Amino acid sequence: MLRNNILIKSLDARRALDTRRLLGSTQLRNFADKLPDYKTTVNVADIKLSKPPRPPPSPKISKWRRKDLHGQTLISSTLAEMEVDEDFKRTLNDLKTMGKKKMTMEERKNRRRALDEMGVPSFKDFVSESFSRSSSPPDPLNRHPTQILQLNVGLYCNQACGHCHVESSPRRKEMMSLSTASHCLEILGNSPNVNTLDITGGAPELQTSFRYIVEEARRLRPDIDIIDRCNLTVVHEPGQEDLIEFLKEHKVHVIASLPCYSSANVNQQRGSGVFDRSISALLALNEAGYGVEGSGLVLDLVYNPLGAFLPPPQEALEDKYHSELQENFGITFNNLYTMTNMPVKRFADFLHRRSELSSYMELLVRNFNLDTVDNLMCRNTVSVGWDGKIYDCDFNNQLGFAVGSEKVFDENAKNVEDVKSLDELIEDSIKFDNHCYGCTAGMGSS
Ligand code: SF4
Ligand code: SF4
Repeated sequence: MLRNNILIKSLDARRALDTRRLLGSTQLRNFADKLPDYKTTVNVADIKLSKPPRPPPSPKISKWRRKDLHGQTLISSTLAEMEVDEDFKRTLNDLKTMGKKKMTMEERKNRRRALDEMGVPSFKDFVSESFSRSSSPPDPLNRHPTQILQLNVGLYCNQACGHCHVESSPRRKEMMSLSTASHCLEILGNSPNVNTLDITGGAPELQTSFRYIVEEARRLRPDIDIIDRCNLTVVHEPGQEDLIEFLKEHKVHVIASLPCYSSANVNQQRGSGVFDRSISALLALNEAGYGVEGSGLVLDLVYNPLGAFLPPPQEALEDKYHSELQENFGITFNNLYTMTNMPVKRFADFLHRRSELSSYMELLVRNFNLDTVDNLMCRNTVSVGWDGKIYDCDFNNQLGFAVGSEKVFDENAKNVEDVKSLDELIEDSIKFDNHCYGCTAGMGSS
């Protein structure tokens, strides 16, 4: 009996406790409903932790943010270096004696000679043969509907880099007129398939039409990606003090060249003082939110090799750039793209002078990658030169292979005044030639 009483009491006590717990949890739940932040989703697998905020830059890092450089031009130093550089002097002399067309033809012959020595056929034949050996061949080399409109708005540049495929420098004065720019914008408005406007140069920001194009393109097509191919040092040029604010206001995607994270290599390829100015510009872009997670302002970097070799694998190099730039300078960015140097113009001269053109062409052919063919830039891009001529890509632009003509540097080739929409070009064949091996080697160059 006593044992039963004890058992009943203990059961009652436990029930009372359970009731209290139940009441407590109901009250808690009611109360919890009123908590302002008690709304975490049940899809906990979708929850991702953001990276911790960047620590403030250490004094060692902040010394790289060179506000004293704003308004200080690089042009005088670039011109002084060009004056004493034997390669620039030789090119200038050839330009005077041979002219641009003859020089370009000579360059083309040199590439052909190098390929002939190896018994390598034309690019188109080479690709066709590779297609026929593949079990899952990509599309043939036809043009897809144009999604990217590239504008080369002029060749003027504050730098004169040793590998420049457009041979830009402060001496080049060719610039897109406002009238040509307005034709390009009209075409953009009439080409609904275009989702990207890629503005290049020279230093595009130093051309008179740059801001007009950006403003009008953003007004006409608020949805598209507008890319500024930025050399970074332009940020410090006089008159460009508000450039970053302008880019930010129009949500321009910045793709910037930085061919190394070391000062010596950058200065060797791009000129003295370019590295420090580039780092300072990257820090200024970060300050404005570019390359900072969650800002929506994209800052991508481009790597191209210093000499006659292929770039390292893109993903691994991107990781290396992230850690080097973060640790040494406190810089963040979004993506890194690796580009193969194209054997055209200054880089072709560089190879020729060093007797490396043949071995470089051989390297490109040996590393032909069939997977690059479907994504070649020329398949979905149309490139317009500063004078309004229409090309398949910026490389063909420099070599004078315009759309709608079989002749090189043909004054009567298609011009922006001849077309209303880029859809009209779908039947025009792409002008492939021996330089195109640069676009299919390794990860490609498009
Ligand atoms: S590579 Fe770019 S920054 Fe260098 S000279 Fe050419 S256009 Fe200017
Ligand atoms: S260089 Fe040749 S392969 Fe490369 S984008 Fe131009 S046309 Fe296409």
